[in-house]
Amino acid sequence: MVVANQKGGVGKTTTTVNLAASLALHGARVLVIDLDPQGNASTALGIDHHAEVPSIYDVLVDSRPLSEVVQPVLDVEGLFCAPATIDLAGAEIELVSLVARESRLQRAIQAYEQPLDYILIDCPPSLGLLTVNAMVAGAEVLIPIQCEYYALEGLGQLLRNVELVRGHLNPGLHVSTILLTMYDGRTRLASQVADEVRTHFAEEVLRTSIPRSVRISEAPSYGQTVLTYDPGSSGALSYLEAAREIALRGAALHYDPQHAHTGQQNNQRSMSEGIQ
Ligand code: ATP
Ligand code: MG
Repeated sequence: MVVANQKGGVGKTTTTVNLAASLALHGARVLVIDLDPQGNASTALGIDHHAEVPSIYDVLVDSRPLSEVVQPVLDVEGLFCAPATIDLAGAEIELVSLVARESRLQRAIQAYEQPLDYILIDCPPSLGLLTVNAMVAGAEVLIPIQCEYYALEGLGQLLRNVELVRGHLNPGLHVSTILLTMYDGRTRLASQVADEVRTHFAEEVLRTSIPRSVRISEAPSYGQTVLTYDPGSSGALSYLEAAREIALRGAALHYDPQHAHTGQQNNQRSMSEGIQ
């Protein structure tokens, strides 16, 4: 699952790590791939990612096996992380001259033999080669949308990129999930944005939205997800519920692939309408 939105600060990383921890706490084996040179997902999971640590940069640029960089997350059983170091900032440029530059992550994942139920990829806030690598490797895209005025601006470009990758490099790719983040039900603006997103993306938006929560924003400074930092908080409960929705959808797709296929086509049609 590719967690992408080229808009910065919308909750990609927060969503990646907290959904991953929620799924792992439900008993799944989950790998987080940190594909952002900022390394925020690695930090939030308490994973060492100083410059010498073997990282996703080595996988992408030097074809190092993914298994050599994956580290277990200590607090949560079944949760693993492939960290990002600052080297990754150069990878966008270094990848340009490499063979199969768009599919290097896909190959690394295909060669990874450990059993996993989910892989979540945290993308940087851009649509460059790192995000393209994630989209070529992924089965589906999750777009976090912050309930603010500019939320839908730029979304059309993101959707067109998904279509481009689907058309040329990864025919199965589709936007399966949209998650409303930092939702503050007290403001009229937040509920207006939420209504608009739900109108455009009726099928894809999760019923659960993530509230604005101080506990969610504090957790990374302790190298923790909110699920271990404050398991009873509204933020933790909402990510658990969002993960449950995702797991149930995945189960439905698993049991009825014919239906899933039809669903995808409908989703794509509804999405190309409306949003610019
Ligand atoms: P970037 O584009 O830089 O990678 P991002 O899309 O990954 O950003 P995050 O880093 O997850 O976004 O979140 C941006 C900021 O908002 C962070 O400081 C994070 O702690 C905070 N934040 C995210 N979700 C919530 C929430 N539900 N409640 C309160 N704060 C939040
Ligand atoms: Mg981020």
